[in-house]
Amino acid sequence: MTSPFTLERRGLELRFRTVHLEARQWLTPDYVRVRLRGADLRGFDSPGADDHIRIFFPDDVPSSVDELRAAPSREYTPLAWDADEGWLDLEFAIHGADGVAAPWAATAELGATAGIGGPRGSMLVSGRPDAWFLAGDETAVPAMRRFTHLMDRDAVGQILVEVADAEHELPVDAPAGVTVTQVHRGEAAPGTALAARLDALGPDDRPTGAVFGFVAAEQAIVRPGRALLLDRWHLDADAVVVKGYWKRGETEYHAPH
Ligand SMILES: Cc1cc2nc3c(=O)[nH]c(=O)nc-3n(C[C@H](O)[C@H](O)[C@H](O)COP(=O)(O)OP(=O)(O)OC[C@H]3O[C@@H](n4cnc5c(N)ncnc54)[C@H](O)[C@@H]3O)c2cc1C
Repeated sequence: MTSPFTLERRGLELRFRTVHLEARQWLTPDYVRVRLRGADLRGFDSPGADDHIRIFFPDDVPSSVDELRAAPSREYTPLAWDADEGWLDLEFAIHGADGVAAPWAATAELGATAGIGGPRGSMLVSGRPDAWFLAGDETAVPAMRRFTHLMDRDAVGQILVEVADAEHELPVDAPAGVTVTQVHRGEAAPGTALAARLDALGPDDRPTGAVFGFVAAEQAIVRPGRALLLDRWHLDADAVVVKGYWKRGETEYHAPH
């Protein structure tokens, strides 16, 4: 039987843009939405829900675009944008470990300069999955929010969001038939509570029909994510995305693409 949906990959022209931090809105004590603005953002596009861009964080006001491009960079998911007005919203998990991106998002002065490269490629959901299964930690919430925009009002499925505790919950708006569950990890290592939830799902929990599966969190989620979606639910490997979005103890982790 042919699947009612496919995942299609599309290459995009890579552009580099200079932007400025315009606004910051804290959604929880450790999660912040920021708005970047700049004339360079006119024409920005991000066709795929789990696209990523590379953001460059200079220490100071860079004297040239080359200097900006040489600044440290990290990967983030475009959440929302207006290509005519020239703004782009991103959400950052503020993790408290050392780093470049999280401290910048939490503390940079309004007006600070940043650079943006990409997205250089997109994965598009073409058609209509019979059911959706999305699971991730804070870093995957922007992608999960974007996937919900692809769901119609009759969509069915499940979204699991791993956060520390009730104070750090990140609600995700979804159609009525898609349940959203906040999985609390408490003091446990990131990813372990979500991994336990995935491990607890068996073949009988598989939604019927063609399921789109997306699992993204700390790198250790990849094994239980694949075990569920591929081994126990027998989803087509071409119909799922399972990715480590960061790795404990590793700076500037590059997820295999
Ligand atoms: C495709 C893709 C899309 C992503 N989209 C987003 C997004 O939209 N929002 C978002 O917040 N993140 C997102 N991430 C994850 C983000 O790129 C990483 O968390 C990044 O390492 C943060 O950079 P940093 O400079 O703050 O920390 P780094 O300098 O990279 O790391 C410093 C230390 O912090 C630790 N660390 C990094 N991230 C976390 C974390 N989340 N929790 C606890 N410890 C951490 C590292 O293990 C390391 O020990 C995405 C990653 C990928 C691959």
